[in-house]
Amino acid sequence: MPSAKTNIKSLTRQELREAVAGLGEPKYRADQIHRWLFSDRVGDFERMMNLGPNLRSKLAQRFFIPSCSVEKTQHVSETVNRQETSKFLVRLHDNATVETVLISSGNRNTACVSSQVGCPLHCSFCATGYMGFTRDLEASEIVEQAFLANDRLSAHTPANRLTNIVFMGMGEPLLNLPNVFEAVDTLTNPGYRFALSPRRITISTVGLAPQISEIARSGLKAKLALSLHAADQEKRASLIPVAREHTLDSLCHALEQYVTITNEPVTLVYMLIEGVNDTDRDAKNLAGIGGSFLCKINLIDYNSIVNINFESVKAQRRDNFIRILVDAGLHVTVRKSYGTSINAGCGQLALAEKKAAVSRPY
Ligand code: SF4
Repeated sequence: MPSAKTNIKSLTRQELREAVAGLGEPKYRADQIHRWLFSDRVGDFERMMNLGPNLRSKLAQRFFIPSCSVEKTQHVSETVNRQETSKFLVRLHDNATVETVLISSGNRNTACVSSQVGCPLHCSFCATGYMGFTRDLEASEIVEQAFLANDRLSAHTPANRLTNIVFMGMGEPLLNLPNVFEAVDTLTNPGYRFALSPRRITISTVGLAPQISEIARSGLKAKLALSLHAADQEKRASLIPVAREHTLDSLCHALEQYVTITNEPVTLVYMLIEGVNDTDRDAKNLAGIGGSFLCKINLIDYNSIVNINFESVKAQRRDNFIRILVDAGLHVTVRKSYGTSINAGCGQLALAEKKAAVSRPY
């Protein structure tokens, strides 16, 4: 039976303050409750020991504390770069699922978190784009993915902890900016569990120009990565449909503004796909864009997805591409796809689960 109680974690910090004031309690109680929920991560009002029995009882009558759980885990160890990749299918309180990926290499433990259930943008190379869109994640559900990844780390080595977060999982984070801002605020709170430096958080977007300007003006210190994937308008629009609305020109203008306001470089992520965006002309176009504002270029291999007819490029082609960028004086890093054997690209595990559920005989 549906609960008439309110999900306390769905409230913004301001809404929580108002709700606590509505219970006739001083506002500082809201900060205590927020800490119990998002730093101590308690799942029961009775454990909020500094609140007093009366308030605990009032909270339990009005609210419930939702929980998320890891439904499925896949793991792969890659010997070449000594990288461990784990992928979690996370079941949310309303039964929706998202994916979280944990990548560990050396001292760096990065959680790749989702920001939406599915995605409305339908990029042609992305498994999530084939799932459709269900809803935005709440800030608490983004933070919980960090906790779940951290649980996995500390289960192996108690001192091990999350060091970085990237918003590169399912969904377009710039379509859910208020919740992304609130989650980053919690994850970077110096008095809370993770206390991450904002510089260890990267927000990745396929490029929504007005929201990039909004981030620049917000003062948020997280890093920005743009999934460029093609450096001419027509090709880009064929890979990323929303690029028809947010053209390369408008995007480059927003990025120039971003760099001017923040004085921080943007990472341009470029996924090389054989026969699609891998010619010398493509590399020269990319060099032209990369030379127009402060940026780094991150080349990645396409991570093959079942039923999508794209291939990763051959080594020789990739080397040519890199040489053109380096000769143009650009800062280029090359990243191998991670966790290919467990479909670690965004949306692939959830898509496989969805297809399995659809084809299951009942
Ligand atoms: S690449 Fe990102 S924005 Fe595009 S469909 Fe996938 S999740 Fe959505």
